[in-house]
Amino acid sequence: MPANRVVQGRMVTPHSLAELIEDGDVMEAETIEDTERDCPECGGDVVSVGYMPTVTEYVTGYKCQECDWSETDRE
Ligand SMILES: [Zn+2]
Repeated sequence: MPANRVVQGRMVTPHSLAELIEDGDVMEAETIEDTERDCPECGGDVVSVGYMPTVTEYVTGYKCQECDWSETDRE
């Protein structure tokens, strides 16, 4: 059962959260996790999700639950 979360007032699945962070399609997404991080923009709670934008790439994405801020661990 996917652990859905509310992000910016909308229910997201791991897949739709990864697509929000990536601003595009992703192939696979893992479970949404809570983090200890606070958003640098608004101080809101930050969640993370591991996903594969392509078959050869694995990215961990971070997204604020309250505002537009997001980032990834890409170099
Ligand atoms: Zn924020």
